[in-house]
Amino acid sequence: MVPSERRHAVNNDQRQRLDPYVDQYATRAKTMQASEIRALFAVAARPEVVSLAGGMPYITALPLDAVGELAGQLVTDRGSIALQYGSGQGDPGLRERICEVMALEGIRAHPDEVVVTVGSQQALDLITRIFIDPGDVVLAEAPSYVGALGTFGSYQASVVHVPMDDDGLIPEALEETITRLAAAGRRIKFLYSVPTFHNPAAVTLAAGRRARILDICRRSDLLLIEDNPYGLLGFDGEPQRALRADSAEGVVYLGTFSKTVAPGLRVGWALAPHGIRDKLVLAAESAVLCHSSLAQLMVREYLASQPWQQQVKLFCELYAERRDAMLDALRSSMQPGCRWTRPGGGFYVWLRLPGGLDAKAMLPRAISARVAYVPGTGFYADGSGREYLRLSYCYPEPARIREGVRRLAGVVEAEMELRATFGTWPADGSA
Ligand code: PMP
Repeated sequence: MVPSERRHAVNNDQRQRLDPYVDQYATRAKTMQASEIRALFAVAARPEVVSLAGGMPYITALPLDAVGELAGQLVTDRGSIALQYGSGQGDPGLRERICEVMALEGIRAHPDEVVVTVGSQQALDLITRIFIDPGDVVLAEAPSYVGALGTFGSYQASVVHVPMDDDGLIPEALEETITRLAAAGRRIKFLYSVPTFHNPAAVTLAAGRRARILDICRRSDLLLIEDNPYGLLGFDGEPQRALRADSAEGVVYLGTFSKTVAPGLRVGWALAPHGIRDKLVLAAESAVLCHSSLAQLMVREYLASQPWQQQVKLFCELYAERRDAMLDALRSSMQPGCRWTRPGGGFYVWLRLPGGLDAKAMLPRAISARVAYVPGTGFYADGSGREYLRLSYCYPEPARIREGVRRLAGVVEAEMELRATFGTWPADGSA
């Protein structure tokens, strides 16, 4: 046995001992891996670590008493509905409210076109399930939302990234990618995009590009999945007009109450043309029979009885203050040569390290310095992105954000000195 074979045999043996079913999983399960964020949560949750990693909304700012009262009343007064099975498409009253929410982004929709899902993450799963055969191509921005990449991978999609710049997805690059893949005989099923306050890149698709992207999709018969969890969390002016507002047939719009109300309720939705809507309902029924009636009614009652738009405004003010704290701290302490985006909304800053530094290799040193972030590689299906990292400002208080950035700047500085002294070394420790 040559050494590499021996090493492989030992690894297989170890894997068998850890999990005796390791060779029995379906091929699709083999592509399922813990995301970079998941692996981080345990260490990042330690109180001494300033976590700039996870994108957790600041739930403490919700009127928790009022929400608690509302939940209690629902169970006491309408428990026979709230605790019963419901429809696979979702509560009709909630779907009406969802249409009102989407109207704020210029969308005119009928409740019949809406499917309520377990967060927009389930909508992503259902869309992928009904469209993707193994090997089908999904186009996604570079970088792209880690949870979507995980879902696409679990259905064995082949993700092809399309570059972005400060104005979001680049129309010419989209066109070129479609042409190249068509010439190679590849089957593209849809384009997945987070056009507004992107996770993780923190850029927004410029108004002037929106019609062009829709036009390219229309001409190429390409379905567009518009994932818009942060659309109402802008810091200046009115909400962006959604892509779906100008294309009812070519776009499936995904929304969620995770960022505007509470992620623990797990209420999201998909707005889709009728044919796709029908398939989504069938897929949802086979996955969960129906969504939680209690959670749906809680959101419905919250929207009906609470000043929820005022609450969203309050969230925006709070996140804007934290964004400012992060940008100020980056400006005053980060190494020259680092580049970062300046978000107009949402939760994230996307930072590029200078001089070929590797954010993944640097992470253990950052954790030792008691600060956590998400390395950029998690947001690319092709393993690139080592020089990037994502910072979240949504959860920590401004003073903690400043402290976290100060610690991070120290780590980057030490890393640059090491690199200047010793040059590069492999990230996996192999020599
Ligand atoms: N899409 C994007 C871009 C996200 O950032 C998130 C949450 N981080 C989701 C979808 C899923 O959100 P949820 O399932 O809580 O609605």
